[in-house]
Amino acid sequence: MSEKVGVYVCHCGTNIAGVVDVEEVARWAGEQPNVVCSRDYKFMCSSLGQELIEEDIKEHGLTRIVVAACSPHMHEKTFRGATEKGGLNPYLFEMANIREHNSWATSDKEAATQKAKALVKGAVERVIHHQPLEPIPVDINPTTLIVGGGIAGISAALELANAGNPVVLVEREPSIGGHMAQLDKTFPTLDCSACILTPKMVDVDQHPNITLYSWSEVEDISGYIGNFNVTVRKKARYVIEELCTGCGICEEKCPRKVIDEVFEAGLAQRKAIYRPFPQAIPKYPVLDPQNCTYFERGKCKACQILCPTGAIDFEQQDELIEFPVGNVILATGYDLFDSERIPQYGYGRLANVFTSLEFERMVNASGPTGGKIVLRDGETVPKSIAIVHCVGSRDNNYHEYCSKVCCMYSLKFAHLVHERVPEAEVYNFYIDIRTPGKGYEEFYNRLLEEGTHFIRGRVADISEAARFPGEEGKLIVQAEDTLIGKQRRVPVDMVILSAGMEARHDSQTVSLLFGMGCDFNGFFIERHPKLDPVATMTEGVFIAGACQGPKDIPDSVAQGAAAAARVAGLINQRTVLMEPVRASINSETCSGCRICNDLCPYNAIVFHEDQNVSEVITALCQGCGTCVAACPSSAINGAHFTNDQVLSEIEGLLWDVIERQAVPV
Ligand SMILES: Cc1cc2nc3c(=O)[nH]c(=O)nc-3n(C[C@H](O)[C@H](O)[C@H](O)COP(=O)(O)OP(=O)(O)OC[C@H]3O[C@@H](n4cnc5c(N)ncnc54)[C@H](O)[C@@H]3O)c2cc1C
Repeated sequence: MSEKVGVYVCHCGTNIAGVVDVEEVARWAGEQPNVVCSRDYKFMCSSLGQELIEEDIKEHGLTRIVVAACSPHMHEKTFRGATEKGGLNPYLFEMANIREHNSWATSDKEAATQKAKALVKGAVERVIHHQPLEPIPVDINPTTLIVGGGIAGISAALELANAGNPVVLVEREPSIGGHMAQLDKTFPTLDCSACILTPKMVDVDQHPNITLYSWSEVEDISGYIGNFNVTVRKKARYVIEELCTGCGICEEKCPRKVIDEVFEAGLAQRKAIYRPFPQAIPKYPVLDPQNCTYFERGKCKACQILCPTGAIDFEQQDELIEFPVGNVILATGYDLFDSERIPQYGYGRLANVFTSLEFERMVNASGPTGGKIVLRDGETVPKSIAIVHCVGSRDNNYHEYCSKVCCMYSLKFAHLVHERVPEAEVYNFYIDIRTPGKGYEEFYNRLLEEGTHFIRGRVADISEAARFPGEEGKLIVQAEDTLIGKQRRVPVDMVILSAGMEARHDSQTVSLLFGMGCDFNGFFIERHPKLDPVATMTEGVFIAGACQGPKDIPDSVAQGAAAAARVAGLINQRTVLMEPVRASINSETCSGCRICNDLCPYNAIVFHEDQNVSEVITALCQGCGTCVAACPSSAINGAHFTNDQVLSEIEGLLWDVIERQAVPV
């Protein structure tokens, strides 16, 4: 029996119809073999558009549906739903993308109309070979893994846990808190960062639904939405948590001091056994064996000898902990751009050039100087400070993107300088001031009134090259002031480099571990930048916070909550339906070569030694098609992407060429 195909060509307002002659495409499609009904319609995605499909299926006895409209990312689900409502299996539908792939890509009306015909023809030829498929139901384990305990991960964890769901939070550092724990005050409200963060950290610690593994990392993850198996490496702390009271005697008595490169950004020292900051969660210290006298020379043990509860254990080993989870939220945050990469700014060479995180620690009351703004000598109060915006951001040599937070935190720094050193002159060197956010522009206006000097121009050089009287011992900041068209030479005592946010150095490795993608800059890729910003292309894996792109605290909190809401929605369903687009291996024709075993990015293929054949574990398979293309015996079939379907689509796409050249098909 030949199939009866219905074709629907969408105008999408003028998005498609402004370039493609949709009436002509629909008329032409109606003349193609197997097409019994063909229409064009203003908005196929509207309820009326969908009803057209449902009614035609019943009236004309359609057995296959083609909609030529936008990307399947947008409306494939909508039209599959309409097909199903009409009484057909939803997989007997195919979508031709004549918008993103066509009308948005050209203004040539004739060429676009011709291409739309080719895309429709390809879809018609393909859909004839479609087979009915059934979604695969999978149960959802209610536990969620959250990786990264910054403000985004903390927000996601608390949202889920407060809704009654178990959460496992894995943090790589000794304490949760992330970058927010290092900040002094937060723009634009200037509330103390620790004051608003630490209650949340305590909530995490005390929450009965949250299991926290700090000083830990995910070593392995396998499985699929609803059913992941996770292995976490809990690094040896050399402290028995059950015995430790967090009294701090070990830290106090430890004779070894090292520069604290992480929490104090290199501005202060810590002990070899330490808690990164007083409010750290969990409260247990961590011993750094690389800098411990006992590990180096076999002597000391002061911490062990003086610990009142016997909690120090030099023999402690890393522990591997395995557990199942249903969903994953990645909230691994960002790294600060390394300012040494811009040699002309002198960071690391000129003592009084500081990074923004160093300055955050310096102005912090619990930081290395107790909140005093001083030069690297620890004493001299600067009388003039230059704040250089866009260090590593909006610069084609480093990162083209805007880091979003640097203008605001630079304004915050200027305010803090005025507050602590009222007599100091503050110069903000900026390219553009970007303050989109609630209360942000108002904060900028406030700064204008506080007497900060704003110089519009990218800083070209920072040096100690004094040329004029009074410049001795100063840092000379040079920039072209683009508002007055003149070179400026500003001698200052201190420079703060407002470095941008960049993707974590290991984001590629982490993304591979979780089967996701990274964008050109190394940030994790969301499923859709506008409509699905916290989901990823891997079902059951979500992202939140600055790991997705530069973000301030309010946005990170919002994303954490959004990711939690997505996960909670899945947990509440208990069972989700997975796409039946999966591979399967014909054991009769499988040669047992195992090529597919190694290629599968999802470890979804097992090999049966006794039968010398491979088998796809359907639940693990993501339908990527890698094995199908690689199998030398053509023994692997990709459901919904069979050879018949793909080759027929290609023939359809090439109808024009085939007709013109009279190539026998
Ligand atoms: C100098 C400066 C000042 C700022 N001031 C402000 C301000 O005043 N107001 C404001 O709104 N924003 C400010 N920000 C921005 C703010 O820091 C971020 O918005 C916020 O920290 C993002 O939170 P996050 O949880 O996404 O990432 P992070 O804070 O980076 O936290 C990520 C966490 O994940 C952990 N992690 C990373 N990789 C792994 C892994 N593989 N496994 C386990 N754990 C991992 C990290 O250790 C960290 O704890 C400032 C930024 C800078 C640089």
